[in-house]
Amino acid sequence: MEGLHTRIHSKSIIFGPMFFKDIIGQQKIKERLIHSVKEERISHALMFTGPEGTGKLALALSFAQFVSCRNRSENDSCGECPSCRKYKKLAHPDLHFVFPVFPTKTIKKPVSDDFLPKWREMIHRTPYFTLSQWLGFIENENAQGLIYERESDSIMRKLNLKSFESEYKVMIIWLPEKMHQACSNKLLKLIEEPPSKTLFLLITEDEESIISTIRSRTQLIKVPFIDKGSMRIALQTNDMLSSDQIDDVVRLSNGNYITAMEYLNPDESTAYFFAKFQEMMRFAYMREVYELTQWAEEMATLGRDRQKAYFAFALRLIREYFMMNMNRSNLIYLKEEEKEWGNKFAPFINERNIIPFAKEFELGIKHISMNGNPRIIFLDTALRMVRLIKR
Ligand SMILES: [Zn+2]
Repeated sequence: MEGLHTRIHSKSIIFGPMFFKDIIGQQKIKERLIHSVKEERISHALMFTGPEGTGKLALALSFAQFVSCRNRSENDSCGECPSCRKYKKLAHPDLHFVFPVFPTKTIKKPVSDDFLPKWREMIHRTPYFTLSQWLGFIENENAQGLIYERESDSIMRKLNLKSFESEYKVMIIWLPEKMHQACSNKLLKLIEEPPSKTLFLLITEDEESIISTIRSRTQLIKVPFIDKGSMRIALQTNDMLSSDQIDDVVRLSNGNYITAMEYLNPDESTAYFFAKFQEMMRFAYMREVYELTQWAEEMATLGRDRQKAYFAFALRLIREYFMMNMNRSNLIYLKEEEKEWGNKFAPFINERNIIPFAKEFELGIKHISMNGNPRIIFLDTALRMVRLIKR
């Protein structure tokens, strides 16, 4: 059983060319994009807007590949023409990317191109990721990712080139809300008077903070949360998951595929989360309020993604310990050390408190997602543990 997580992890596919058919849900948007190409009514600037984990970057990439494909079928790119082959490596000479970066020891004044190999690698793992996951992948998840002023020179230079091979030059700008104002002003000029046959694809999670003059010149594509049915179908392709687990993930993820993946792949954080879970329960049991306060302070310093991942981890663990206490051992997916600790801890988790415990952790995920104050959220949770563990 120990291998559950590693096995789920190793199943993660390397994303090749980006096809519409590989995007989870979002059927109406795909149809609309495909239609615009067929009708030759492609707007020169599109803004994909909506919450994280809904597939905006995947949609933009599929659309760009579809527009450039030389042998597209009715509803998707061919995957084999010279253009698609270059898209597969995300290395088409007419495909450009802009995304938030930060200065490092070796790169004092960064632009997106400095991190392009990393960016390609990230998308090849999965086109579903958050800003802090991206920053963590470069080096530091707590860095402040920005699109700096000097990026605009790089954008100008690229767009003033003639397109090499495609009809369109494509500029994908991921999270323009992180753009320095001087850079957005220059971008605005480009969108107002675009070089011919240029396609801007903006992807935002915070439409309101983008200058309204840019917003008003783009065609908005509102990307909603992924519908439950599509999420379920995507998860069912993983035959390691029981239908109970799929139910859990569908409900918890609330249409956010990144949250779903975090729930299934707690990855290298697991040992740390387990230690924090043990502390939380131990302090709660001992009614150590001061210790719980310190614990909450520490949890509040983690990045938002990891905070959500902690609650998801706690939820999974509490369910497993309940099962263990009920002697339904065939349902237990625990690591050796978690199982061992559970021998003492599981008896505390019973029919009376399992639902309030589970609700508490689900609420934690919800409140963190809604940008609540993490110090208050973690302290509230910790203090409620005191009551629940004593019942
Ligand atoms: Zn093709």
